[in-house]
Amino acid sequence: AHALAIGAPKIPSVRWQDIGGLQQVKREILDTVQLPLERPELLSLGLRRAGLLLYGPPGTGKTLLAKAVATECSMTFLSVKGPELINMYVGQSEENVREVFSKARAAAPCIIFFDELDSLAPNRGRSGDSGGVMDRVVSQLLAELDGLHSSGDVFVIGATNRPDLLDQSLLRPGRFDKLVYVGINEDKESQLQVLKAIVGKFKVDAGVSLQDVVERCPPQLTGADMYALCSDAMTSAIKRKIARLTDGLDTEDSPLILTAEDFNQALDC
Ligand code: ATP
Repeated sequence: AHALAIGAPKIPSVRWQDIGGLQQVKREILDTVQLPLERPELLSLGLRRAGLLLYGPPGTGKTLLAKAVATECSMTFLSVKGPELINMYVGQSEENVREVFSKARAAAPCIIFFDELDSLAPNRGRSGDSGGVMDRVVSQLLAELDGLHSSGDVFVIGATNRPDLLDQSLLRPGRFDKLVYVGINEDKESQLQVLKAIVGKFKVDAGVSLQDVVERCPPQLTGADMYALCSDAMTSAIKRKIARLTDGLDTEDSPLILTAEDFNQALDC
C-alpha cells in the first residue's frame, strides 16, 4: 500500500514548435542535453553532462520545455512532483527516490523531471526536521545523482519557482549544475509567438488578428495565462454554437472556430 504510483515512462509528444518564444532558453537546453547525446566523444574532452535546473515564475513553460527536449531527443520522460515522493512511513520517502531512478534506468534513455524540486530538497537544517525525513531524502537524491555519471543515458531536469530554497549541495558540479532562467515573455513579439504556438491547437477564423489580441494583453502575461485566454475564447465559441444549434442555424458536427468576437469576450473578462 506504500508503493509509489508512477507509470512507465513514455516518449512525450510535445514538439519545439508547441513552445512560443524562449529562443535563448531552448538553445541552452538543447546544448546541454542533445549535444552530448549526439557527440558522446565530446564528453571526454570536458563537455559536461549533468542535471539541469529550470527556474522562474509559474506557468512560463518549464514543464513544456522538459517534455519537448525528451521528445526531440527521443528519450522517455518520467515526471514526478516533489511532494508526491514524501511519505509518512519511515524510510519510504528515500525508497521512493530510489525507485524513481531505477524506473528511469530501466526506461533509458530517459529524462527524469522533478517538478517543485524545492519541496523535495529544501535547504538541509532549515527544513525544521534536522536529521529527519527531508535530510535523508536529500542525501538519497545526491547519491543517485552522483551515481548517474557512469551511464549518461539518464538525464535529470529540475524545476522550481524558488531556487533560493534549494539545498545548495544540489547545485554542485555534476549535479544540477546548469541553471536556466525561464521568465515571462515581456515583449510583444515573443508574446505573439507564444499565442501562435497555443492557437495552433485551436481553429481560428481568418478574420482574427493575433497581433491585435497580443497588443491588448497585459504585459505580464505568462504562457499559462495565454492558454487560459484561449480557453475563455473557446467557451465563448461553445456558447455561440449552442445558441445557433437551438435556433437550427448550425449542425453538431461543424467545427468550433474562434472568432474575433470570442477573443473580445475573453479579453473583457
Ligand atoms: P509551474 O511552475 O506552475 O509548473 P511551468 O513553468 O512548468 O509552471 P507549464 O506547465 O510548462 O509551466 O505551462 C503551463 C501551460 O501554459 C502549458 O501547458 C501551455 O499550455 C502553456 N504555456 C506556458 N508557456 C508556454 C509557451 N512558452 N508556449 C506555449 N504554451 C505555453
